[in-house]
Amino acid sequence: MAEIRLEEVRKTFGDFTAVRGSSFTIRDGEFFVMLGPSGCGKTTTLRMIAGLELPTSGRILLDGEDVTWKRGSERDIAFVFQLFALYPHMSVRRNINFPLRIAGLPRREVKARTEEVAAMLRIEHLLDRSVGGLAAGDRQRVALGRAIVRRAKAFLMDEPLGALDAEFRDVMCEELRVLHNRVGATTVYVTHDQVEAMAMADRICVMNHAEVLQIATPTEIYDHPATRFVANFIGSPSMNFLPAEGHLPAGATALRVKGVSIAVPATTAPLSAEAVLGARPEHIRIVEEGALRGRVFGVEYMGSRQLVTVDTEAGRLRVRAPNTVRVADGETIGLDFITERLSVFDAATDRSVTIRGAAHG
Ligand code: ATP
Repeated sequence: MAEIRLEEVRKTFGDFTAVRGSSFTIRDGEFFVMLGPSGCGKTTTLRMIAGLELPTSGRILLDGEDVTWKRGSERDIAFVFQLFALYPHMSVRRNINFPLRIAGLPRREVKARTEEVAAMLRIEHLLDRSVGGLAAGDRQRVALGRAIVRRAKAFLMDEPLGALDAEFRDVMCEELRVLHNRVGATTVYVTHDQVEAMAMADRICVMNHAEVLQIATPTEIYDHPATRFVANFIGSPSMNFLPAEGHLPAGATALRVKGVSIAVPATTAPLSAEAVLGARPEHIRIVEEGALRGRVFGVEYMGSRQLVTVDTEAGRLRVRAPNTVRVADGETIGLDFITERLSVFDAATDRSVTIRGAAHG
């Protein structure tokens, strides 16, 4: 079990900054997901925690101990790579217990621990098969088994499900989370897939351009995104953004969009520029006499819900509505906003200025 703490950790490659002064704590036993687009610095952060890369500056602490200068092999951390580097000529058993044999553990213990892990992963029946002929999912389980068998303090996973097809990824997401609940070890998981992150994380750390933008639970991140980037990256379809007019005074509880006044949760002020209203598709209602009016551009049925695209004076909006609401292409409809679920962003800084939101760890 381990708490991992980063203090002002920075990494540069020549002139290029890959990680810009990250400071955060990953709690003992937590499933912590680092999420962000390709190149944002999440893998570099993970590699520094693993001891595979040295920070340019800053400190990394494992259970309070400064391990910044310790080699990876001295950190008692298991790294699970994306493309499970298994030994194809070896059996599943020998692949799983490889780290234990290297460590010179007694044969009986090696056997007992290997079988315990195989049972946990439900691959006992494959133990004496060669990994060469296994299906992708079973190979992934073997790779996980090899990481778990060490009983490391923490597991680091870099897009471990990236090579799997969508259906199987869902199954593995669930399995990984169940496994985490049983093993209880701190897990740091890197992905660019927000659905994976939302499904598995205790807390998500959203990164972009080498910077940590928000660390919070999936619900907090969804409901109270700290920045416009976070709001846009999480949720599908993503949040609607409507530019507001004029400056918001301190504590404003309404703003104007194309001449229409829209009530919002109280905001901090002053803003350095104009405000941008953020509304998730399910937080806009289709009504007869709405604050804002628009023309239906398209309707996508999705079972119990439908996604309605509406062209308004403030731009094209996506609205998620129950399928009982009848709308037709080309029809003019009214739109209303669910005040307490809205976000307001500062257009210059992109940060949320919604007082009840902006949870930032
Ligand atoms: P991806 O999912 O594509 O791996 P990422 O968020 O994990 O994205 P990193 O792999 O951490 O991103 O890379 C961050 C940036 O640092 C990238 O622009 C990458 O090109 C650069 N980078 C990473 N390692 C090195 C290196 N050894 N030398 C130079 N630049 C590097």
